[in-house]
Amino acid sequence: MSLQHKIEPGVERVASQLVQSGFETYVVGGAVRDLLLGIPPKDYDLATAATPEQVRQVFGRRKARIIGRRFRLAHVYTERGYYEVSTFRREPTAEERRGRVNDDGVMLWRDNEYGTLEEDARRRDFTANAIFYDPVGNRGIIDLVGGVQDIRDGVVRTIGEPGKRLDEDPVRILRAVKLVAQYGFKAEPELDRCLRERVEQICRASSARLFEELLKIFSRPFANRTFTVFHEYGLLRHFWPNLAEIWGTPQGWLTAALLAERDRRMAAGGYSNSRALALSTVVFPAVATALGCEDDPSRLWEPGEGVDAECREAIRRFFQPFTVSRFFTARVRDILLLLPRFRDPTTKGRLLRHPEYKYGRELFALLATVYQWGDECLAEWPQHNPALHGSPPHRRDRRSTHGRGRGHDQGHRREPPPEAGPER
Ligand code: ATP
Ligand code: MG
Repeated sequence: MSLQHKIEPGVERVASQLVQSGFETYVVGGAVRDLLLGIPPKDYDLATAATPEQVRQVFGRRKARIIGRRFRLAHVYTERGYYEVSTFRREPTAEERRGRVNDDGVMLWRDNEYGTLEEDARRRDFTANAIFYDPVGNRGIIDLVGGVQDIRDGVVRTIGEPGKRLDEDPVRILRAVKLVAQYGFKAEPELDRCLRERVEQICRASSARLFEELLKIFSRPFANRTFTVFHEYGLLRHFWPNLAEIWGTPQGWLTAALLAERDRRMAAGGYSNSRALALSTVVFPAVATALGCEDDPSRLWEPGEGVDAECREAIRRFFQPFTVSRFFTARVRDILLLLPRFRDPTTKGRLLRHPEYKYGRELFALLATVYQWGDECLAEWPQHNPALHGSPPHRRDRRSTHGRGRGHDQGHRREPPPEAGPER
């Protein structure tokens, strides 16, 4: 089976350059899984025999940056964004783990022992995520763990013993349930049992890693389904207690309706997704409640003194236990505080020029659909403001295209590049 014509040309270029420098390189993970399922990948992960330092030598310091501590890897930048390039790894041996600070022999705190392609396949989480594809040579699909058959059968299966693999890294609990939710897969019976037994173990994962996974959930059009299945598994109340608490209440129904509509629009295309917009969408009912509109959030609040601080506080509270950066909190607050202004054409000019206009409008449009306000309420508001968004960005938006964070956050404030990287 060839996936060649479906793969982004930039992937092939980056992989070719590594191969020409003598390092085997493959596409792996979610991109291969999605291509096999006929879904356009949201980003591409590359696995290579080169160490992060060697990747940096091949591409130069300006184009390759090393990130991560627990899981060191390189980001390789192209004109359209960046790819994550990680070195083949293996599981550390018991001998190597002995004596490490914090290592109780169960949970893995570091994952930086380099290995071969075969070892790298085995240290991955699920068979569906461990299929390699050779975009340069003629090896095609390399499936050492039976992932292709599991994708065909719609089965989530850990590589190795489920209980042990989940205990090693509790984030895998969430990642397994995410696969069940997103693709309608079934966890194989032993994994299913282990998942249900361990849902509360998710609390052992660091909040930074969980927030990273939350952002990934929002980068796909399956958010409502994902939280619904998290709830069915009993995982939601450990992963995000504040969301679990409202799930099944009128506030939760509104959240679910907004997310379902956002998922529908995102899947249909033409939806301006951003992480700040997704966070604004999920927190809207909580903010409306905090600002005194709990009986009827569709009223929206009156702009005025104190609203800013209350909104910020409501955002902070709702997203606990995740630590949301000041950057995101400010953007989410800006988007939310724009909403009542869509009802007031007297400030139209200023609103159209607002850097978060595009995202405020998307959220207002979601509300208009959910509350059946009718199309007229959007008649004055173009989807994009050509004065602001028609011209090319003055600075390359590294997080806006195909790397981690594709299609995100083309607002005025750029999120600083990730410092710690995805720790897994
Ligand atoms: P998505 O579509 O959300 O990007 P993904 O499977 O590609 O899904 P990533 O977080 O991008 O998820 O991870 C890339 C690959 O790295 C995974 O497919 C998997 O092979 C491996 N991986 C990620 N997290 C873990 C983990 N906690 N344990 C083992 N392997 C992991
Ligand atoms: Mg991925």
